Amino acid sequence: MKVPLLDLKEQNESIRPEIDEAIKKVLDSNGFILGAEVQTLEAELADYCQTKYAIACASGTDALLLALMAFDVSYGDEVITTPYSFFATVSSITRLGGVPIFVDIDPQTYNLDVAQIEARITEKTKAIQPVHLYGQCAEMENLRKISKKYNVPLVEDAAQAIGAEENGKRAGAMSAIGCFSFYPSKNLGGMGDGGFMTTNDEALAKKLFALRVHGSEERYYHKYVGLNSRLDALQAGILRVKLPHLDSWSNKRKENADNYRKLFTDAGLTEQIVLPKERENARHIYNQFVIRVPQKRDCLRQFLTENEIGTDIYYPVSLHLQECFAYLGYKENDFSESERASRETLALPIYPELTINQQEYVVEKIGEFLWK
Ligand SMILES: *Cc1c(COP(=O)(O)O)cnc(C)c1O
Repeated sequence: MKVPLLDLKEQNESIRPEIDEAIKKVLDSNGFILGAEVQTLEAELADYCQTKYAIACASGTDALLLALMAFDVSYGDEVITTPYSFFATVSSITRLGGVPIFVDIDPQTYNLDVAQIEARITEKTKAIQPVHLYGQCAEMENLRKISKKYNVPLVEDAAQAIGAEENGKRAGAMSAIGCFSFYPSKNLGGMGDGGFMTTNDEALAKKLFALRVHGSEERYYHKYVGLNSRLDALQAGILRVKLPHLDSWSNKRKENADNYRKLFTDAGLTEQIVLPKERENARHIYNQFVIRVPQKRDCLRQFLTENEIGTDIYYPVSLHLQECFAYLGYKENDFSESERASRETLALPIYPELTINQQEYVVEKIGEFLWK
């Protein structure tokens, strides 16, 4: 049996006529950059994320960059964040000349260990940038307390977490600016690159709208040095078809996660592997279902590949050890939990269209490897 890590075919086929129609509509309009389709999508996204504003842009990476630009992050400014994330979480800081100040992760949730943050705050701290890794919110209530106490804004890297919640509040609505991605593998994926930001602050929204179009509020008059980071109408049209399905897709991922929990437990495998922790009072949208395999993770992965089961490692190198950040002077063991996670985690297929038979096969094969 073949079980790919992600298969978009079935999902795309199920909405194919509406997608074709949306593409045709944009072609007929002959308006391709921003425009009415993007504006309508922005209103729908703000509504979905429980925020006043949503500002579309060219990628999740740019959303992070634009958010930090809105706070004028510049040479020598410090931004506190996690070393265990996708590269863009940190490149958005260093691109602006900022200095990432890493804090290790909580080994159970893989998100920032909030207890370690206060000790790292200095006069140079410009922002704290938590990541909602795999689709589960970082501890936002505690982060908000720290943000208030030190008057340092929070920027959420919610690229993997559209629709995730903590105490009923949605990702992107719990900070100054939330940053999201439409990369095709996210729960709401486009057919190309795209992203957006959310905020409740009118002045920040105005600045973000300007920053994405070369920093101009009025054409050819430049208030800031911004980016060319716009969403195109084709992506907006496609995403507007997909958005109404998002909750049912995310709920299906959650069902699949529950199935895995039961299957792994019934198979007696919860000693050899560690299942992902779900926080209380939180909605996990399972962009990824990541298990921890303390022994022989790479051999298991190889065995699964041989049995046509797709897996991946998010992420194999902790960001403080990346070659391009060597100048920051970090070394091995500086963030031991992050480094251990990079050696032990393994993402399994979790996409909405995955069948129970496929899940049973995945668990059976993992059992076969671990028991031998
Ligand atoms: C996907 C992702 C990004 C970047 O989004 P792109 O749209 O690919 O630029 C940033 N941070 C995290 C945590 C991500 O998963």
